[in-house]
Amino acid sequence: MSEREGSHRELLATLHNYIAVSLRKAGMRNRAVGSWVESVRLSKRGNVRRKLLRVTNEYGMARQVNEERDNQQAFYGVQLSRYIRSKRSHKLGTRAEIDMIIELMDQYWNQISSSGILSDMSHAQRLAHFRDTVIVFPFLSVPEVLKIEDVAIDFCHGTRIGPNDRCVCGSGLPYRTCHGRTPGIDEILSGKF
Ligand SMILES: [Zn+2]
Repeated sequence: MSEREGSHRELLATLHNYIAVSLRKAGMRNRAVGSWVESVRLSKRGNVRRKLLRVTNEYGMARQVNEERDNQQAFYGVQLSRYIRSKRSHKLGTRAEIDMIIELMDQYWNQISSSGILSDMSHAQRLAHFRDTVIVFPFLSVPEVLKIEDVAIDFCHGTRIGPNDRCVCGSGLPYRTCHGRTPGIDEILSGKF
């Protein structure tokens, strides 16, 4: 990389850091995480990296007030992103549609949460459980939705990537915090993920 290119990357990394701080102040905490990840990818400065790892949880999402809320946000992120990917428009439409989705996710979440099933699971197992929980949303052609699965493979070594392995993009971040992040609702609704 030339010196000039390097200084552009540093500048971009700094801008992404500022954007992240602003997004967080504006309450868009997962979009902030996304910007910090970008900043670390551009420049591996330790202070931004430490900040990112401090504000994110095991799902690579903005840390919530407690683990229960972390789990809930991850469940909603998994479900909402699958729902949107299954739509031809890749967008949410009306307020009524959003309300319907949230109500359904609430119902499923209450069942999962009250069953106590998550307490003995690792975060990776919880995430797998969230992905395996298929909400039957109305007005959807369900079968094509069922097949979406995210499996990360390290093609250089021919192995599956675990959540705590270094991401293959070279950012130096754990996979779960980088390209294996679970999107937050604020990111999904703004089309940033
Ligand atoms: Zn990555």
